[in-house]
Amino acid sequence: MNVVYKEENASLIQSLKKNRSPENIHETVVKFYDRISNRIVADNQLNIACERGCCYCCYLRVEVRAHEVFTIARFIHEKRSEQEMEILTNKLRSTVNAIGGLTREEHFARNIECSLLLDGECSVYSVRPSLCHKHHSMDADRCRRSFQNPSDVSIPPVGHPLIIQSTRAAILGFSDALDKVGLDSTLYELNASLLAALDHPEYGKKWRKGKKAFPRSAEAKPRLVEGSLRSSSILR
Ligand code: SF4
Repeated sequence: MNVVYKEENASLIQSLKKNRSPENIHETVVKFYDRISNRIVADNQLNIACERGCCYCCYLRVEVRAHEVFTIARFIHEKRSEQEMEILTNKLRSTVNAIGGLTREEHFARNIECSLLLDGECSVYSVRPSLCHKHHSMDADRCRRSFQNPSDVSIPPVGHPLIIQSTRAAILGFSDALDKVGLDSTLYELNASLLAALDHPEYGKKWRKGKKAFPRSAEAKPRLVEGSLRSSSILR
């Protein structure tokens, strides 16, 4: 896993020397995930159960870094009309209100729909957060059971251990790379940080200057009990 960490760290620093845009960072990270997981899937002849139209994992908590949020915000501005933007910001506001008082664990146990899910599909699929990108399932039935029993943490994990470990190492490598180049590596909750980015376009400038992009209220909350997240958890 040390190799994965070093590779991710080096590839991001190299890429950032050429281009520090949120889109470039996001693309570099997801391409790296794809290289790792495609290699593991091919080497071990794995059958990934995920398919179009299945969206159980879009009712889980998603945590992101600022560059991903700015990438998504820009994509949304380009693709949506003013009226669609208003519908989305209203949805984001009501989701943020619903999750505001919850712990991380409570959020996971509630099946709260991601504000970016539209008619059962991700409305930002090509620029979806890297956690969504790396998430996968070896067993759709477990995802369904976890969806139907969201507070049951005894259902076994849905991901493949090798992919989980490798992408974890990659996440660490890329987070350290952001620190090294002086960019915000804080973890934020997706809905809260996206709403903040859409309400405050000036936050992008703060981020480019190396400051924390979003207020504390949008930050990810600490994990209370190790191993207390659902088996299908996107954060594993
Ligand atoms: S961002 Fe897209 S893929 Fe991720 S949880 Fe939301 S709808 Fe699902």
